[in-house]
Amino acid sequence: MTVKTILTEPNKILRQVSLPVEKVGKEEQELMNDMLETMYDAKGIGLAAIQIGVPKRIIVMDIENKDKEKKPMYFVNPIIKNKNSNHSTYEEGCLSVPNQFAEVDRPSTCLVEYLDYDGNKKKLKATGLLATCIQHEMDHLEGILFIDYLSKLKKMMIIKKLSKQKNKVDRIIV
Ligand code: ZN
Repeated sequence: MTVKTILTEPNKILRQVSLPVEKVGKEEQELMNDMLETMYDAKGIGLAAIQIGVPKRIIVMDIENKDKEKKPMYFVNPIIKNKNSNHSTYEEGCLSVPNQFAEVDRPSTCLVEYLDYDGNKKKLKATGLLATCIQHEMDHLEGILFIDYLSKLKKMMIIKKLSKQKNKVDRIIV
């Protein structure tokens, strides 16, 4: 398992639409292992493959409390079948939008169909944090970031801040 570099906004790769996986093979499983390692290292609860530059429809998540046992979840080619018309609001952050947080409204429950780590077909009724997290991650597969739900002004301010952070050069005094 290898910790990969997480891409951060602004970055065109993050805006790509990821492609379906034909078959869950060794390559995909190794990718999922790396993604999980990268996510734990960054102290995140979810990561999409595109965030490490791989445009495949693969997500890893672990929403358990950090003190407890690790409970990794793997989603390959996830599809949302059913969204609740009731919404819930969470303050969201994203490993690709470092140090920025904002409240986002999303359907409070959803039904997800996907392939698991071994390529088996699975269904999951997600509620609460799990529902929000999976919808956030699935947005990544479409090239969407949570800041896209904010007002234009708010979004622009965040992108400006992130660009500044990126362009910061080290100051040396000699
Ligand atoms: Zn994210």
